[in-house]
Amino acid sequence: MFRLQICDNLTSICVICVPLQDDDAALILALHLTPEAWGACYNPGMNRFVDLHIHTTATPHHSSWEPERLAATAAHLGFYALAATDHNTTASVAALQAAGQRHGVRVISGVEIDSAFGGKLWHTLVYGAPPDAPALLALCATVFERNAADAQALLADLPQQGFCLTGLNNLGRPPNVADVATALARQNNLPGRVPGEGDEAAGMRYLLTRMPGAYKPIGVDEVIAVARQLGAVAILAHPGRSKGIYAIPADADDLAALVEAGLDGIEVYYPSHSAEQQDFLLRAAQRYGLLISGGSDSHHPHQDLARIERSFMTLLDRVP
Ligand SMILES: [Zn+2]
Ligand SMILES: [Zn+2]
Repeated sequence: MFRLQICDNLTSICVICVPLQDDDAALILALHLTPEAWGACYNPGMNRFVDLHIHTTATPHHSSWEPERLAATAAHLGFYALAATDHNTTASVAALQAAGQRHGVRVISGVEIDSAFGGKLWHTLVYGAPPDAPALLALCATVFERNAADAQALLADLPQQGFCLTGLNNLGRPPNVADVATALARQNNLPGRVPGEGDEAAGMRYLLTRMPGAYKPIGVDEVIAVARQLGAVAILAHPGRSKGIYAIPADADDLAALVEAGLDGIEVYYPSHSAEQQDFLLRAAQRYGLLISGGSDSHHPHQDLARIERSFMTLLDRVP
């Protein structure tokens, strides 16, 4: 007598015939199974969890997840699927997909794009695009080019307005708008500064409110257009996150306008979302027929992955 176990989370099919009597030998049929996938077979929490918002070493300067370690950790914890969503780059996706294959974890291609819409700044996640698609690479390059150009213009303009800006030539890379904003707030008394706001947030508040047009990220609608072209989906990242003026929680009007612009879905599950925000976003997803996604935004191995049940994530049915 044998009991059949079938593991379907693997790149290969694994059928294990487990003996019901201790003295019977187990019959194991494993087709093209790697050792890592074999380990995943025995993971008690396998196939359950999903985290579609993780930053790897491809996010420059402040993220340290190596793709191999990320995939191995996820397999060990019983994950079904992962996505690397680095800022404006897909440089780690291929390595994570290869590592995911070795460890028996599905890896969805992803990227998180700095963008703006309706006078607010948003992060837009694109899932399911080939990571080397020319249109996607061009989109990412445009983000960096526009940001660098705006930073250079501010470096020329702000000193002429009497602001002190020093130290930005010693970064070892061209300064971006966030660098300029941070230096602006750190080295000057900014009119209208909100008490308690950090330097980057205060500097961005000044730029966005006192110098409109000085920072011109690409539009969420432009990101949506590229996603459409590639058969991918565009998802609004952390719509409930509040982080000063450059991350204002989305309200009903914001969501309606973004849906009108073609948004495919929203990141409902996110560590800083309150229960009320999650409920608001779930109802919006239902009202507009939006895909539901979620993730941890983990940047480092010491930051926990989000263990979201795969059945909650309707996005998984829409992307390869
Ligand atoms: Zn983000
Ligand atoms: Zn992120």
